[in-house]
Formats: sequence, C-alpha cells, structure tokens
Amino acid sequence: MKITDAKVFVGGPAKNYVTLKIETDQGICGLGDATLNNRETLPAAYLKDYLIPNLIGMDPRNSEDIWQFFYRGAYFRRGPIAMAAFGAIDMALWDIKGKLANMPLYQLFGGKSREGALVYAHATGADLEDLMDSISWYVEQGYKAIRVQCGIPGMPKAGYAVPEKKGDVKNYITDYTGIRPKVEIWDTSRYMRYMPKALTQVRERFGPELKILHDVHHRLTPREAAEFAKAVEPVDLFWLEDPTPADDQDALKFLRHHSTVPVAIGEVFNSIWDCNKLIENELIDFIRVAVTYAGGITHVKRIVDLAALHHVRTGFHGAPSHSPLSMAAQAHLNAWAPNFGIQEYLVLGTPECDALFPSEHRLENGLFYVSDAPGLGVAFDENEAARYSYKPGSHPVVRLEDGTLWNY
Ligand SMILES: [Mg+2]
Repeated sequence: MKITDAKVFVGGPAKNYVTLKIETDQGICGLGDATLNNRETLPAAYLKDYLIPNLIGMDPRNSEDIWQFFYRGAYFRRGPIAMAAFGAIDMALWDIKGKLANMPLYQLFGGKSREGALVYAHATGADLEDLMDSISWYVEQGYKAIRVQCGIPGMPKAGYAVPEKKGDVKNYITDYTGIRPKVEIWDTSRYMRYMPKALTQVRERFGPELKILHDVHHRLTPREAAEFAKAVEPVDLFWLEDPTPADDQDALKFLRHHSTVPVAIGEVFNSIWDCNKLIENELIDFIRVAVTYAGGITHVKRIVDLAALHHVRTGFHGAPSHSPLSMAAQAHLNAWAPNFGIQEYLVLGTPECDALFPSEHRLENGLFYVSDAPGLGVAFDENEAARYSYKPGSHPVVRLEDGTLWNY
C-alpha cells in the first residue's frame, strides 16, 4: 500500500481550518487537522513544502515509523508548527488504518471504556449578572460542566474570554479577526480580590452538582497562583486552569504545596517533554494537550499513558479553532482512555461546519457520543471547502495598566 497524493486546504466558516487529505493507491483517503490558531498558513506551508513530498510513496500503515521519520529527521525538534503538521499526517494515517480495518478508531486503541464522554462549555459575561444568565443557558442545554469567566469591576478593558458589552451571553467567542492584535488590560490585584467572590456566588446560585471550571490563562505568578487557589478552595472547582505561565514546569510546585484545588494545564504544550515533569511529580490533575498540535494521536496517546501512571486525567483542549477532525480524534481517545477526565467542547453543531465536515458524532445532554463509522468517522466536502479562503487573525496581547506587556 502506498501514499499517492496529499493536499492541504485552508479555510472554514468561522476559523481557518487546515485540513490534510492523504490519498492511497487503494482508494482509501485519510483526513487530518493541522489548524494552529492564528498561525494557520505555517503548518500548511510545512506540509506542502517539506512533508508531503516525502510522504508520497510511503506505506500509510507504518504510522509510527512515519512519525519518527519526520520528528527525528527534522533535526530541529518540537515546536507547535512542526507538531501540528506531524499531527495532521498522523491523524490521517490513523484514519486510513481504521478504514482499512473497517473499525472506528477507539476499537484500535482498546475499545470503549465509557459511552458518553463528559464535555464542558464556556459561559461568560461582561459582569457577574450576565455570567449567571450565560451559565443558566448552558445548564438548560444539558451541560453538566461549565467553564466560567466574567468581567472584573474596574478593569479598564475586558479580561480573558469576556465580552466588552453586556447582553452577549449565548455562545460568545472571542473575536480574533485582523492581523494586528487587540490590546487587553490586566490588573492582577482587582482579579485576585473579585474573582473568588464571584466564583463563590456562582456555586451558591447553581448548587453542589454543577462542575465549575475557571481559566486563569497564565496570568499569575507562582505565589499569586497559590494565594488564588487557597482563596477558591471552598468553591469546590472541578479544575483551576493554567494558573501560571505554562513554559515553567516548576511554577506549580508552590501552588501544590499550599492548596488541594485540582489543576489543569497544557493547551499550549506540543510534546511530552513539555509536561513529563509535571506528570511524574504529580503537580497537576488534568493534562490539556491537543491531538492537533501535540503531534497527533501517536504522540498524545503516549502522553495519556504516562499520565495514567500518575493519577493525571485527560482534559483535551477544544477551542473553536479545533476542526471536527481533531475533535473526532480526541473523541476516540476519550472513549478509550482509562484516565479520561473531561473534554472542552465548542466547535461542532453549526450548519456550515456540519456541511464541511459531515459526521455522525453527536452531543447529547452534556455528553459526547463517538460515531461507530470506520476511522475518524468524519468526511470532508471539497465543494464546501471551495467556499472559504484564509482570513488573517491574531490573539489579543495583554498589558498591565502601566503598559507592561503581560501573558495572554
Ligand atoms: Mg484555556
């Protein structure tokens, strides 16, 4: 069996999805997602200029050897651009393997450990009142777990993942359009004073059963993160996400020594070498890597297996920039993983997205049910894809009130 061709498509209804399609001499195609949010053209160029010319003629069944060939062969290892490109190839090769076996991918991993996989949605509001409305809306949709963010009184511009104006509470998604980033202003003191009280009110309003998550988005120092974690302990969070900048694997030691709040980190990690110490030293409770830019199914499964040895559960990244292909790859891992925790879920469900990526995967009452179709269980409509083209976007940058650049 040989790979005969591979194509890259960039574009989508809301995001610049980077979709890889690998074709074989046996008529079976594989699909993979290389979307690196707001840097989409880079993994696409890596695929087109370097990886696809080497893929032609390879046996697609040798997904492990192909992964090693590209990872070790590059000499300059890791990094989100390369790992997103490798990830798309790996996903597509697993898709081919599943179609060859006529089995859904979870069967190739070891079968199902559960039926529905718990997901969480994003509730937000310009203020606490709007946040409460947003949470109520998601609870009515059947979600059992919700990430909550809200505006901070006195903060000059909207904080992380918060709308600037009141009333925008249903399915709010941060606007990243334009190549020049928007500027958000951050004030740690106001956040530290206000947010524990706000989270307490959310818990009082919605009772003990709702799983409440909160994302600090790397904004605190290790000492501040420890203080914040202690302050929110009575809220009984499902997790506290990214309390410190993710590039320092030692930063969570201080928090861990002072609080029992469950910690989740890792959506920006792109290899096992970004999180091995966090996992082995049991400094985290949930690992947030993504199949897309952490090297695909082959590499992420390795991280999941290491995590399982150390009581760390999965909580894969699922921002709107993940195409239904990477969400499907994660859904198959979620169905199998003995140490599954939760899945962030925002992307599927719009008619435009469903037309571009038809599938039988479904969300019901806050649980994700994986399709039994062979492979990833997602198709790709190239006629639909032709409707879309690349639109530049950029994440915001964050500054303190005096102008100092801070962590987005
Ligand atoms: Mg996050």
